[in-house]
Amino acid sequence: MDCSSLSEIHEECGVFAAFGVGNAARAACIALQHLQHRGQQGCGIAAYGPDGKIRLHKEPGLVRNVFTDSILKELPGDSCIGHVRYPTTDVGGRENIQPFRMSDAKGEFAVAHNGNLVNSDELKSLLESEGQLMVSTSDSELLGHLIGRHHGQGGREAGILSATLLLDGAYCAVVLTPEALYAFRDPYGFHPLSLGALGDSYVVASETCAFRGIGARFLRDIAPGEILRIDREGLHSSRFAQETKDRSCAMEFIYFARPDSVIDGQSVYSFRKKTGHLLWREHPVEADLVTAVPESGYAAALGYSEASGIPYEMGLLKNMYVARTFIQPAQHMRDLGVRMKLSPMEGVIAGKRIVVIDDSIVRGTTSRKIVTLLRDAGAKEVHLAIASPPYSCPCFYGIDTGTRDQLIAARLSVEEIRRFIGADSLHYLSRQALSEAAGGRGLCAACFDGDYPTDLYGHLQEPDKNL
Ligand code: SF4
Repeated sequence: MDCSSLSEIHEECGVFAAFGVGNAARAACIALQHLQHRGQQGCGIAAYGPDGKIRLHKEPGLVRNVFTDSILKELPGDSCIGHVRYPTTDVGGRENIQPFRMSDAKGEFAVAHNGNLVNSDELKSLLESEGQLMVSTSDSELLGHLIGRHHGQGGREAGILSATLLLDGAYCAVVLTPEALYAFRDPYGFHPLSLGALGDSYVVASETCAFRGIGARFLRDIAPGEILRIDREGLHSSRFAQETKDRSCAMEFIYFARPDSVIDGQSVYSFRKKTGHLLWREHPVEADLVTAVPESGYAAALGYSEASGIPYEMGLLKNMYVARTFIQPAQHMRDLGVRMKLSPMEGVIAGKRIVVIDDSIVRGTTSRKIVTLLRDAGAKEVHLAIASPPYSCPCFYGIDTGTRDQLIAARLSVEEIRRFIGADSLHYLSRQALSEAAGGRGLCAACFDGDYPTDLYGHLQEPDKNL
């Protein structure tokens, strides 16, 4: 299969779950707003009601618009799972919004996940060969059918365990049943999943920033390869993978996660600030001021300023009410978004030599517009420093930045990219420095170095295997 055919539905999403929490759907509604940066195109909550039924509401749109007071009243109960989603293809199918409510001879359950399975085609073929029909292209529905496929002893937990043995790729999943809430994370630990406490009850979220928003406290991360069962008796942990690998997604630290989140013990803000220090060490630029591309460039720009002694100034102002360009799937929306969302601060910029820090360059069109904005505002020199290595390989683990031929660093040299975007100089963080910022922890950095932690099941063309 060629790279370009992979963009069916790959998602960077956020999950939340609560067990034993009064008005669980209301807590989910607040928590999901703290995870909204992970997906803005659709959201859903499935709640287990006092009458023993799982009720589900999901729709396209932002959490605050979808979950009105009257909708929340229709979702009673003290246990729920919730999800925010962003489709990475131009067509975001309504049928793919999560959670999914499933039903079989053992009863109802609901499932939601974050990540992308690399062997979903194989698993779909398996289910289809058994006569299972799919109503969506979501890996969550696939996961639900795999869980329901288990007909032996051991109840729903045995179904989850047997499903995990078939999965390959990135997944952080939550499953709500009448008896318990389950949370589990792939053996690589690609994406974050954390456990918190709200009073005597438990909550689970893609990022720790969601806990503070509902007054919960962080307890610990769900470990790679762990299934956590939460029921009326408390927590029960077991492992479905004896062998685990520490492959945290580098882009979570660089771009996706909120800076006030902590992933597997590492502060996202500190990571980003450290990349700024290292950028200065590797690429000292003579300049009058350092500025950032809002918002994911802020911490690295502060780090660059701190290490260099060059003052940090707010050179670009963001209109908070326009969505992130990377989140919006269609190119024409991205083009419009850049003009609508950033304003240069002319009084700060005019006549100055500026180092602009950004988190990454994916297609290059946004960087080009930003450099033009700064020049039009009177900047004397514009130097662009990127707090990550060149992004040259597609991701198959749930963060879709387009196909390989859309990635500018896959096609052009650094000097060619500099010319394309029109900067006076262009600098990238080295791969070694990325590891240093991570404190030596294991990272998946496949989009920078092509070192994919899993089998790709033929998703790359032959020449691409030599990345
Ligand atoms: S390939 Fe890149 S974006 Fe995908 S999981 Fe790995 S580091 Fe993250």
